[in-house]
Amino acid sequence: MSQLFNRSQYLVSAYRYDQLPEDSGMEIAFAGRSNAGKSTTINALTNHKGLAKVSKTPGRTQLFNCFEFAPGQRLVDLPGYGYAKVPEKMRKHWQKEIDHYLMNRQSLIGVVIIMDIRHPMKDFDKQMIHWAHQSGLFSHVLLNKADKLSRSQMAKALQITQKAIAAISDSTTCQTFSALRKEGADVLSQTIAPWFQAAHD
Ligand code: GDP
Repeated sequence: MSQLFNRSQYLVSAYRYDQLPEDSGMEIAFAGRSNAGKSTTINALTNHKGLAKVSKTPGRTQLFNCFEFAPGQRLVDLPGYGYAKVPEKMRKHWQKEIDHYLMNRQSLIGVVIIMDIRHPMKDFDKQMIHWAHQSGLFSHVLLNKADKLSRSQMAKALQITQKAIAAISDSTTCQTFSALRKEGADVLSQTIAPWFQAAHD
């Protein structure tokens, strides 16, 4: 596996956009519905079990969590979207902050969109793919929790999702993944590491 992300360190958590680190260098964002496994994915990618907190209470840790793996190169765990139990006021706040982040963040070069393989391509997931494609950002979909399915169910879910993605974007890649078992972590890191190089060129 690429060792690049192993050096990740926690940088800061932001409740609001203006509390984020200076908008320079490069970063990629991890987006997904609450409970899809964003935190577990970042832990698997960085080989650091406790780096991003894994919350048993979705919606509680609603912050932009930023990690740095090299000077000016960051991973950003976006607040989970679409969790029904979050109070309306908080949901609106996060919707506004995420929108503002996506529209304005100059250092953002790509997004990893994490879905539960059993419930892929919800509305917000589709919007995110569409938006990333239109904005010329790199994008990659993780069908997480693949350990919950049999090999054949997994292959079928991948095929269906790839087709649905292709209808929206021809630049978005997709893989099956298990953050829990770190299955697919090599493919993930080999997919996103070159983004930083390409964006630099
Ligand atoms: P987040 O809200 O998107 O950051 O999700 P978390 O990383 O906190 O994970 C939510 C729950 O899903 C936790 O109980 C995790 O242990 C579980 N989880 C995350 N990834 C996987 C996976 O690949 N397989 C399984 N079976 N469970 C997972």
